[in-house]
Amino acid sequence: FPLYDLRGVGKEYPGPSGTIQILKDLNLRVEEGESVAVVGASGAGKSTLLHVLGTLDTATSGEVFFRGENLNVFGEEARARLRNKEIGFVFQFHHLLPEFTTLENIAMPGLIAGMSKAKALARASEVLDLTGLSQRSSHKVTTLSGGERQRAAIARAIMLKPQVLLADEPTGNLDEKTGERIARLLFDLNEELGMAMVVVTHNVELARQMGRRFELRSGELYEQTC
Ligand code: ADP
Ligand code: ADP
Repeated sequence: FPLYDLRGVGKEYPGPSGTIQILKDLNLRVEEGESVAVVGASGAGKSTLLHVLGTLDTATSGEVFFRGENLNVFGEEARARLRNKEIGFVFQFHHLLPEFTTLENIAMPGLIAGMSKAKALARASEVLDLTGLSQRSSHKVTTLSGGERQRAAIARAIMLKPQVLLADEPTGNLDEKTGERIARLLFDLNEELGMAMVVVTHNVELARQMGRRFELRSGELYEQTC
C-alpha cells in the first residue's frame, strides 16, 4: 500500500454566502519514504490539506487512505492513536514548552506515550544528535535561536519515529541562511531515515530538495515538472 492515497478529496467550510469549497476532487499518492513539496498562493488550502493528512481534520468528500486503511471510518480515538504514533508535525509556531530544556521538550512525546523516563531521554539524545542540537541539550528552549528552535521542533516531531513528517512552512520565520540549513536537515532526515515528508513551503530551495513538487490551485494538486 502507498503511505497516502487521497481519492477525490474535497473539503468545504461554511462561509458567509454559502459553503466555500477549499479542496476539490484532490488526488494524491505518497509512497513510503517519499518527499513531497506543496506550494500555492496564500489561502489556497495548503494548511487544510496538511490537517487532513495529519488526521487533525476530516475531508468532507472523497477518501483518504493511510497505508491501505480508510481514515474516513476511523473514530476520533483511532485517529488520535495514528496521529501520535505514525505522524510527526512541524508547524510554524512550534509550541515548545518554555519552562523546559531542549532535551525535555524533545523527550515529551515519549513520556506522553508511556515510555520510561530513561528510555525517553535516551531516545531524545539520539534525536538531538540527528538534528545537530547536542550542544543545546540542557539549555532552556527560550535561550535558543530561531533556527535552533526549529531544529528542536523537528527533533520533537521525529522523537517517536513517525512514518511521515508533515511540515507547514518550516523555514517561514527564519533568515535565508538558517532556512537553508533547516532545508538541508529535512532533506537529510528523509534520505537517512527514509521518513516520508509532505512539506508546505514558499521556499524554492526547500521545494527543490523534495522528490516531487505540487502546486495547490483551485482545490486541486498540479504536479510541477521542474
Ligand atoms: P493556505 O494554508 O494555503 O494559506 P488554508 O488551508 O489555511 O490555506 O485556508 C484555505 C481557506 O480556508 C482560507 O480561505 C481560510 O480562510 C479557509 N479556512 C481555513 N480553515 C477554516 C475554518 N475552520 N473555517 C472556515 N474557513 C476556513
Ligand atoms: P534569531 O536567533 O533567529 O534572531 P530569536 O530566537 O531571537 O531568533 O527569535 C525571534 C523571535 O521569533 C522571537 O520572538 C521568537 O519567539 C520568535 N520565533 C523564533 N522562531 C520561531 C518559530 N519557528 N516560530 C514562531 N516564532 C518563532
